[in-house]
Amino acid sequence: MDIRNLINNIAFNNYEPSIDELERIISVNGDDMHYLFSVADKVREEYCSDEVQIRAIIEFSNYCRCQCKYCGLNCHNTEVKRYRMSPEEIVSTAKEAVDAGYKTLVLQSGEDMFYTKDMVCNIVKDIKAIDDIAITLSIGERSCDEFKAFKEAGADRFLIKHETADEDLYNSLHPHSTFKRRIQCLKDLKSLGFQTGSGFMIGLPHQTNRIIAKDIMLLKEIGVHMAGIGPFISHPKTDLKDCNNGDAMMTLKAVATTRILLKDPMLPVTTSLGVLEEKNKSLAFGSGANVIMQKVQPIQYRKMYEIYPKDTKDEPSVLAKRLELEDFIKSCGRKISKSRGDFGLLK
Ligand code: SAH
Repeated sequence: MDIRNLINNIAFNNYEPSIDELERIISVNGDDMHYLFSVADKVREEYCSDEVQIRAIIEFSNYCRCQCKYCGLNCHNTEVKRYRMSPEEIVSTAKEAVDAGYKTLVLQSGEDMFYTKDMVCNIVKDIKAIDDIAITLSIGERSCDEFKAFKEAGADRFLIKHETADEDLYNSLHPHSTFKRRIQCLKDLKSLGFQTGSGFMIGLPHQTNRIIAKDIMLLKEIGVHMAGIGPFISHPKTDLKDCNNGDAMMTLKAVATTRILLKDPMLPVTTSLGVLEEKNKSLAFGSGANVIMQKVQPIQYRKMYEIYPKDTKDEPSVLAKRLELEDFIKSCGRKISKSRGDFGLLK
């Protein structure tokens, strides 16, 4: 099949591609690549409207028990200054974000068992008491029993990326856990009724275009509601310090291909894509993305949550930062969502 017909058939006729066909799409360049982006943009408009969902993210602890070989917060990195926000501090930051207009809060951290099941549940309940706010947890692997308690406490969504669909590559990058365990978490979360998010990195060492095709197929098989797809960025205090960063165009192709195949998931412009180059953010909005996250924890913690190296400038208030982001979104020709932006309720 001609590549443009293939793209159209997937996007508009629900054609189910093979892995070979997805790999062909991921490998397009030049005019065909821009064609892919424009089709993804149409599918995004059809299923998600013109509204961009803005999420506030509170990175509340950088302590981590894991050994992820790409991540600057891995437990072997003794040079990172560790911090934990108290439950009161997390809830007051949430309040500030709600006052600035946010309707979704993402609570993210390293895998930090200091926050027990009950502590997480209480934080969720206290934030839920502020207003009708959607809460997303992104705190790593926990038992099914804990996930259930978080759901009962009021958490709406959970993000836990599969990182790479190649089992051997996954296991070599995560000596503390296994690919099977990660996928089990995703299945548990879905069966508990969470709006469930996965995702993966572009440019991990030994990754091939075929593996990226498998990543996208896996998102489809899991039936994710959200997928964060971002470039790998090399961190000097990790085993992958000498590896090249992931490629921005490949990331955009993966986002666009995910959009045409899955149609309605929430697809963020990942922070790492903006770290490579600021202009990638507007390109991503034109290639299928419909979500963006904004860090809202106090500046001293923003600097310390360094999963990959980045510049953290002294920034104005949470509200001023939100207004700046709204202007940027409008400059991309898009509108600002005023709702919680729940999966399945965008149109
Ligand atoms: N501890 C939580 C949150 C992880 S941080 C968990 O395990 O789910 C959120 C995401 O940052 C990860 O899922 C990973 O995809 C991404 N990430 C980590 N290190 C990175 C790096 N060096 N470059 C790009 N993305 C990275």
